[in-house]
Amino acid sequence: MSFESLGLEPRLLQGVAAMGYTEPTAIQREAIPHILRGSDVVGAAQTGTGKTAAFVLPMLQRTPIKQGVRALIVTPTRELALQIDEVIRTAAKHTRHRTAVIIGGVGMYPQIDRVRRGVDIVVACPGRLLDIHSRRILDLSRVETLVLDEADRMLDMGFWPDVSRILGLLPAKRQNLLFSATMSAEVLRVVQSTLHDPVRVETSPVTTPVEQVDQTVYPVGRHQKTELLVRLLQGGGHRRTLVFTRTKHGADKLSRQLEKHGLGSAAIHGGRSQAQRQRALGAFRAGQSHILVATDVVARGIDVDNISHVVNYDMPNTPEDYVHRIGRTARAGAEGSAVSFLAIEELERLAEIEQALGMTIPCHDLEGFAYGARVVPDPARQVRGPKGSGGGYGGGSGGGNRHRSRQGGAGRSGRRR
Ligand code: AMP
Repeated sequence: MSFESLGLEPRLLQGVAAMGYTEPTAIQREAIPHILRGSDVVGAAQTGTGKTAAFVLPMLQRTPIKQGVRALIVTPTRELALQIDEVIRTAAKHTRHRTAVIIGGVGMYPQIDRVRRGVDIVVACPGRLLDIHSRRILDLSRVETLVLDEADRMLDMGFWPDVSRILGLLPAKRQNLLFSATMSAEVLRVVQSTLHDPVRVETSPVTTPVEQVDQTVYPVGRHQKTELLVRLLQGGGHRRTLVFTRTKHGADKLSRQLEKHGLGSAAIHGGRSQAQRQRALGAFRAGQSHILVATDVVARGIDVDNISHVVNYDMPNTPEDYVHRIGRTARAGAEGSAVSFLAIEELERLAEIEQALGMTIPCHDLEGFAYGARVVPDPARQVRGPKGSGGGYGGGSGGGNRHRSRQGGAGRSGRRR
């Protein structure tokens, strides 16, 4: 199937060519015709599926120019806003739409200035958008298309009160497009209360990780995680590695420790200024630093090609975060590896992830690594049933009799189970 057959006009097909796309992805095939017809659409799609172009292309076709702000895209993170803006700029090469990015962490006045000069499309994070709107500079009363991107993450991040206020500034009659990697009960409630008779389009469910990702778990004591990471990275074969930590502080600390071992890395998290975040991401994209240490919030949605390895230095809090994290590698048909360090206090999180995936993830040991105390999940464990029964993880009592505790274990060699 071609982009032409989806109903896109020649000026947008030129934009498609400028982006270098030859064939639409699944979400683009499914969503574009509905959006062109003016329907409300709910898209269940994670980053990496081509969802940005799926809403940008038809939105451009339907959005008039030079009549004030007619399209608004609301997104949870600044990086995502900048990425969407970049896609719009390329796609709109022959349509002359003008965009403004309205995000926190950078100066407000250039944004105000841009809005004053006249824009057709605004890409924004909720807080700054409300801030600028309250200064009576931005008129949202004639918006015809609203896109809520990564709706689940906006809910998780507590942005919903702000998003609700934004909805109140828009005309009641408008087209709504909502994209979300997961369709939790909360997201569905939002869909029901905000969207009008939406068409639902989806790609593979979020609990299906990309098949080309080779997943492994490395059981290791909490205090040996850095040492193990250094050894793995020094072992070679890691072209471009994205390392996830649970906290901002943890990301900074780990980045410093890697530096001490001669492993140059950049750190990106919500505690850094926008300029620092852009610099870190730029260095990683350009290949100047091969390691990026990140937290979930900012890493969500970052679009960097050729990530060969994802390391979960800390296990993610939810199965969805796990799928998102490991989905950063093996993009566009490439192969990738995802390695998860597992300390005793993280066993329950592994159980939840395996339950959601419906499979167990094999455990590996690094050959020659002097492991201290740790807990290794039972290789014969089964994926826990839906009611939490029959699992192989013990009753959450911390080292129950179903896992094997190991003290020492130095020299244990690359055991694959
Ligand atoms: P997204 O899910 O929107 O973040 O897009 C993920 C990546 O896929 C981006 O690097 C896009 O440039 C790329 N992409 C989107 N649509 C296509 C397409 N039809 N053909 C090839 N690459 C695409």
